[in-house]
Amino acid sequence: MDKTKIILLVSDEVYVGTLVTILKESLSNVEVIHTNNVIKASGFLADKSLDIQVCIVDLNVSSMLFKILDNMSISSLLIVNEMNKKAYTNLEKYTFSDYVSTASHDYLNQILSGVSRILKNYTANILIVDDSKVQLQVAVLILENQNLSVHTASNGEEALNMIKKGDIKFSLVLTDYNMPVMDGLELTFALRKLYAKDELGIIALSGSDSVDVIAKFLKMGANDFITKPYSDIEVTTRINSNLETLDLFEASRNLANRDYMTGAYNRRFFFESGNAIFHKAQRSNRDLCVAMFDIDKFKNINDTYGHDVGDEAIKEIVKILDVNLRTSDLMARFGGEEFCVLLEEISLEDVKILFEKIRISFEENILKTAGLEIKFTVSIGVKYGLGKDLEEMIKHSDDGLYFCKNNGRNQVAINVEPLND
Ligand code: GH3
Ligand code: MG
Ligand code: MG
Repeated sequence: MDKTKIILLVSDEVYVGTLVTILKESLSNVEVIHTNNVIKASGFLADKSLDIQVCIVDLNVSSMLFKILDNMSISSLLIVNEMNKKAYTNLEKYTFSDYVSTASHDYLNQILSGVSRILKNYTANILIVDDSKVQLQVAVLILENQNLSVHTASNGEEALNMIKKGDIKFSLVLTDYNMPVMDGLELTFALRKLYAKDELGIIALSGSDSVDVIAKFLKMGANDFITKPYSDIEVTTRINSNLETLDLFEASRNLANRDYMTGAYNRRFFFESGNAIFHKAQRSNRDLCVAMFDIDKFKNINDTYGHDVGDEAIKEIVKILDVNLRTSDLMARFGGEEFCVLLEEISLEDVKILFEKIRISFEENILKTAGLEIKFTVSIGVKYGLGKDLEEMIKHSDDGLYFCKNNGRNQVAINVEPLND
């Protein structure tokens, strides 16, 4: 379960009550602390045990608070009645992640999406590529203020290597045009061979406002373009709107590819992605591993504790597999309490060790739910090697599962011969 996020709201305007309700209803795992007193607000901010992640402040609040927020680098969203001189002065003087004007008929939704963006950015990695140290620093400062995890590279090649390494999942790349070794256009070209526009966003940055350069970047697959010199608010608005679009793409991919209850991939996605992995393994003549998991006597859990507790047991499978598998391993819910995994680049020896370790993890695990403490075991049928096709490997892993179920359950069976065929 995600850690509770704390939002501090400092305002005494009429919208406060509705805003608190909207924030609590629309965002999961949040707590909203509200006060209209600046001294109290600074007390909350100073309280280390609270870990406030976002502050929503009204312009009518004393600017002393803006200064504190700036010094503490806490992401804040400013609410203004209208864009007057006071609003502009404060927006220039202090760093806000975003601002919303109550003059807009949709301002409550805008505040909600601003806050939700700030909270989401905690998990977004962004790579800035620029050969100028000064430019790099300016951009880093702006983006760190958006809570983004900011990484830097000084040319296209360095950036490409960082992305290819794969240990960080980047959401966005912000690249300069003119750079030594590999320029921004070449980087965009190379990245688009690896990732589609809806998987990795690319925003080009350049001092040149030549229409030609902009067109080239867009043709090459950049998602957006920012001309230098830029304002903080332009960069943050463009970055956030691109991140929002990428989130929407991800959400629709998840709807199609994942099982709603557990968040694991569904059967359809398993075959789509698994067949590609199978053909790759076939081309390089490498072994694969398919394993089928099924909870032992699951009907007993449903019958004794009810369907909801049964559901929790199914979700527990995903948690335990997530801990034990690599991110590159493919896991899917095949139906009920049955899961299938596909592993590549693993030896038979490691397969034996891994699945026995997973079996023991289940055996030792205690599922705590609805005030109960429940234990259950799983049977695991495994096929290692390279069959005729993926279907055949799955069929063989199923034979292994069938063998386990007939042989006392709570065990792993690797490459067993089919019992009846
Ligand atoms: P075995 O050890 O042989 O696997 O015995 P079992 O009782 O686990 O038998 P089986 O695997 O056939 O049980 C599947 C049960 O899972 C039957 C079905 O009612 C239940 N089931 C299927 N989908 C869900 C679900 O989404 N939630 C819950 N709670 N139960 C489900
Ligand atoms: Mg079962
Ligand atoms: Mg089953």
